[in-house]
Amino acid sequence: MGKIITIANQKGGVAKTTTAVNLGASLAQMGQPVLLVDMDPQGNASSGLGLNKNELERCVYDVLINDVPPEEVMIHTDIRNLDLLPSTMQLAGAEVEMVTLLAREQILKKALSPLKNKYQFIIIDCPPSLGLLTLNALAAADSLLIPIQCEFYALEGVGQLMNTVQLVQKHLNPKLTIEGVLLTMFDARLNLSIQVVDEVKKVFGNKVFRSIIPRNVRLSEAPSHGVPVVIYDPKSKGSEAYQELAKEVMGID
Ligand code: ADP
Ligand code: MG
Repeated sequence: MGKIITIANQKGGVAKTTTAVNLGASLAQMGQPVLLVDMDPQGNASSGLGLNKNELERCVYDVLINDVPPEEVMIHTDIRNLDLLPSTMQLAGAEVEMVTLLAREQILKKALSPLKNKYQFIIIDCPPSLGLLTLNALAAADSLLIPIQCEFYALEGVGQLMNTVQLVQKHLNPKLTIEGVLLTMFDARLNLSIQVVDEVKKVFGNKVFRSIIPRNVRLSEAPSHGVPVVIYDPKSKGSEAYQELAKEVMGID
C-alpha cells in the first residue's frame, strides 16, 4: 500500500511546492511510483513540471466537484515514475463549491484511495491557507510534512497548523501522523538560520528531518525551465539535499 504525504504550512513562500516537486521527482528517480497532487489553485507544482495550465481541459477541480476519476485527469510527466494530478485557477472555485457537498472534507480521500495500490507515494501540495482544500489534503493523508523556512518568524502560524492537525485527527483522520518538519532555505553564513534550526529542534525534537535544504539558486531557477532541480542540475546542493530527504522518507539512511 502506498503512502499519502501532505505538504502543508499556511504560510506562503516556505518551499511547500519546491519540496513537493523535488521530493516527488527524487523518489520517482529512485524507482518509486509517485503521484503528485497539485491542490493549489496557483498551480505552481503543475507549471514547475512544465505544464501549460492554459492548455489543460481538466484538472483536480473536476475530480473534486464533477466526480471525474483521477486517472482521466492525470498526466504522465517526462520523468519516469512521476505522474501529476494538475491544478488550474478553476480550483479556486472548488473551495466555495465544496461547502454544500456531503462529507466535503473527505472528497479527495475518496478519490485517491483506489490509487494507493498503484503508487508507492502520493504527495499533495497545499495552498497557503487552512481552508477546505488543505483540510481535504489532511483528511486524505497518512502523514504531514511541514516545511519551515529558516527566516524571521519561522514558527509563526505553526501553532495554528498544529491545532488544525489535532482537530483533523479528532474528527476526520485519526491515523494522521507527522512525517517530519523540514528546514528550508538554510544559509550557513547567517546566525539567524542557525538560530531557527535550534529553535525548531527544541519544539519538534526528533521530528525534524536530518536533511536540511540549503538556500540554492538552482532550486529557484528550475521551475522556469519546467523541470525539477534533480533534472535541471542534479549535482547542485539543492538537488543533493532533496535526494537525501527522499532517502530519509524511504527509511534508507
Ligand atoms: P510555497 O509553495 O510554500 O509558497 P515555494 O516552493 O513556491 O513556496 O517557494 C517560494 C520561492 O522560494 C520560490 O520562488 C522558490 O523557487 C524559492 N525557493 C524555495 N526553496 C528554495 C531554496 N532552498 N533556495 C532558494 N530558493 C528557494
Ligand atoms: Mg506553493
